[in-house]
Amino acid sequence: MSQYWSDFVSGLDPYSPGEQPDLTDIIKLNTNENPYGPSPKALQAVEALLNQDLRLYPPPGADSLKHTIAAYYQLTPANVFVGNSSDEVLAHVFNGLLRHSKPLLFPDITYSFYPVFCQLYDISYQRLPLTDDLCLDLADYVRPNGGIIFPNPNAPTGRLLSLQAIENLLAVNHTSVVVIDEAYIDFGGESAVSLINEYHNLLVVQTMSKSRSLAGMRIGYALGSAELIEGLDRVKNSFNSYPLGHLQIAAGVAAFEDKAYFQQTCNQVIQSRRSLTVALEEIGFEVLPSKGNFVFVRHQHYEAAIVAKKLRDKGIFVRHFDQERIREFLRITIGTEDQNQQLLDTLKNLINQHLTK
Ligand SMILES: *Cc1c(COP(=O)(O)O)cnc(C)c1O
Repeated sequence: MSQYWSDFVSGLDPYSPGEQPDLTDIIKLNTNENPYGPSPKALQAVEALLNQDLRLYPPPGADSLKHTIAAYYQLTPANVFVGNSSDEVLAHVFNGLLRHSKPLLFPDITYSFYPVFCQLYDISYQRLPLTDDLCLDLADYVRPNGGIIFPNPNAPTGRLLSLQAIENLLAVNHTSVVVIDEAYIDFGGESAVSLINEYHNLLVVQTMSKSRSLAGMRIGYALGSAELIEGLDRVKNSFNSYPLGHLQIAAGVAAFEDKAYFQQTCNQVIQSRRSLTVALEEIGFEVLPSKGNFVFVRHQHYEAAIVAKKLRDKGIFVRHFDQERIREFLRITIGTEDQNQQLLDTLKNLINQHLTK
């Protein structure tokens, strides 16, 4: 607290991201980064720009990146909004498209940044509970609302909704914006981007942090009707005209163009998710079916918070959310085959030591 803060700032309850430890010799499975590095072509594209031209402002609309993303999804650049991370894109979405008099709807168990944005932008909201087995039931969202947002697959459960379920909601919800946060869609889900031309109130938000291995570059984007994108541009141009720098734009374009690397690394993560799931089940974990680059697991005998702490002592970081309904669970990012094996070996040792609940 400080006398210099406004009452508003004193009252904020900010998002707390997973730890980014400084240690080198650790296995980091706590923030869903991609264990494989960015496309070598993205790195080359960045290196090629390390010169005097960095004195110049970047193109304010990041047009080359918008064109590349539009072409990839068979849309037009008018359907694309880009920003400095999808968190920033989401901030503009909450501010510009979801701030209405009726409450915004989202799940009780979901990305914990959503209520933070609501507080920041003074948006009233209603959290709709997931079912007992932590599934999102979209039939529940058919009620008066000022907007709807959820991740697909959901975070931190990893559970995926079908495109049909999403279309069923869109078919009856015309008067507010429906935002699908597809941070993890490339790990085995079907994107709702194909519905954009039909539903002008649908906005799909994606990030280059997970499937494209560029979390350190901070690149996010939204796809939707020209009407929604124009609304976001109005907010962005009232906030920061140049959200993406030269290096981000070049890295983003190159990563999108290197489809072979993208597919190969996503497939590897999907394959490792399958084998890690089986191996975790063998040692007594329940593993929710995940279509993300992580698994959400619990053990019948061992307390999640204690397991997380013991793993941390051994240099393995996973995520535990001290939150009602999911206190028993750990979220574990899919690592390389080698990292996953070390995780399993460490868990087996802990279990053999009869780590009690
Ligand atoms: C990781 C994540 C984001 C944020 O991605 P950035 O582009 O790195 O800010 C947004 N939504 C969900 C559900 C995420 O898991």
